Amino acid sequence: MTMNTQGRPTSPVSAANQSVDTVSGSKGLLQAEGLIFEIGTQDTTGVDLPTPKNRTGRLGGVARKQPTGLPGLSEPQTVRHYMRLSQKNYAIDLGLFPLGSCTMKHNPRLNEKLARLPGFADIHPLQPQATVQGALELIDELATWLKTLTGMPAVAMSPKAGAHGEFCGMMAIRQALVARGEAEARKRVLVPASAHGTNPATAVQCGFIVDEIKANARGRVDMESLKAKLEKTDDIAGIMLTNPNTCGLFETDIKEIADLIHAAGGYFYCDGANFNAIVGRVRPGDLGVDAMHINLHKTFSTPHGGGGPGSGPTVLSDALAPYAPVPFVVKDEDGVFRLVEDMEGDAKESFGRMVAFHGQMGMFVRALTYMLSHGADGLKQASEDAVLNANYIQARLKSVMTPAFEGYCMHEALFSDAFTADGIETIDIAKSLIDEGYHPMTMYFPLVVHGAMLIEPTESESKAELDRFCDSLESIARRAAQGDETLKGAPYLAPMRRLDETQAARKPVLKWTQPDANSVAAE
Ligand SMILES: *Cc1c(COP(=O)(O)O)cnc(C)c1O
Repeated sequence: MTMNTQGRPTSPVSAANQSVDTVSGSKGLLQAEGLIFEIGTQDTTGVDLPTPKNRTGRLGGVARKQPTGLPGLSEPQTVRHYMRLSQKNYAIDLGLFPLGSCTMKHNPRLNEKLARLPGFADIHPLQPQATVQGALELIDELATWLKTLTGMPAVAMSPKAGAHGEFCGMMAIRQALVARGEAEARKRVLVPASAHGTNPATAVQCGFIVDEIKANARGRVDMESLKAKLEKTDDIAGIMLTNPNTCGLFETDIKEIADLIHAAGGYFYCDGANFNAIVGRVRPGDLGVDAMHINLHKTFSTPHGGGGPGSGPTVLSDALAPYAPVPFVVKDEDGVFRLVEDMEGDAKESFGRMVAFHGQMGMFVRALTYMLSHGADGLKQASEDAVLNANYIQARLKSVMTPAFEGYCMHEALFSDAFTADGIETIDIAKSLIDEGYHPMTMYFPLVVHGAMLIEPTESESKAELDRFCDSLESIARRAAQGDETLKGAPYLAPMRRLDETQAARKPVLKWTQPDANSVAAE
């Protein structure tokens, strides 16, 4: 029997509870839970009010003729349903969330407290501006922090996620090309093979053509490949490059890349999703960046996952600032904050509007709270600790797993599947981590590394937690190297075993239909 670091027995595969089938379907304290449609009935409701007497309808004949078909539950049943579901969900508040490229860091509770202040939480975007001066000032102050940290002169605050920020930056580039009269001629955008999928998708969405550049053996942009792409320059719109890149490595030739792109008449879009690795140490503006989105929900600790609200402010260089989207906040000479909503005056060259209002106010409050509570020195320390933690993981695991590239990494450690025995794949390792109580790392991304496993611990983890995670992964990696076939059945201890995730993504079943009574009887 295997023992954990405290000397207690631990062995998912031989664990007794796998073989225990319970009548209820629950196991221990893990509750089985059906769909709300299966447990609710149409004639149950959480409220108990008498039908009003002598009331005639005032809907003029448009009242619903049939029940809605929605399931009803009592209040305690409803609370239990959602509580049970919430406990099936992995969360950063439960444990280390090593999903590379996602920066799943702790969300400080102070952020939540301030976001709930009525002056921020209970205001409406259509309120007269004189009544929301504090909120506008907060947007302006956050903008100042973002411009200072990135060394960039302008920022568009309204994009609502990283991909939306990419869209903002690429639209600004397109508008700049329109202003130069070159939008038709300059369509080619260079994108490295390791890029996040949103980069080529954004470029195409904005009407550009994607031209892929190769990575070199060091996991960085291959400069020869880049130069070859720039032999012809009159059709170059720009480059989209992530730094640190999706292999968790700093692009050491970044200044030369920026110069080459500018000399070719193009713009440099930097994907800033990995900004957490360099805050306070590197200012992207000094590297020649023209546009970069910042994922507040990654770098500045606003909660994300489960489709929760992102926020992707996009910093812009002097060359692109005139084309920034409306609305934006300006401070007039008398100290009054004002929203520029129309494409005139300061905004006459704007490419337009991306969202109905001004962006994710709740996330702005959280991000600024995070910045103010850390201070400039604390933000820098957080980045340094994120890099240190990733390198600790790489150092601890490199004797049992295969680091994808040589040398130190930035904020995430990337491994290939070269260490696994024939037949054992990355997915088997990821699924085995679930039995250990961890959300799997990012797998099979970036595409340039075979069977990639991308691990980003962030700065929030203690050494003890990193060690616990490494102990788990190390034991799985050893079994993978020995060709332990039991890994292929993992997870054994999760509420559901292996699901066909590709099928679920491609053909999602989003609608519940009443099971056919005959087929149920036949089962
Ligand atoms: C997360 C991420 C994005 C997209 O950001 P969203 O906020 O999820 O839209 C883009 N590029 C990289 C490298 C990322 O990690």
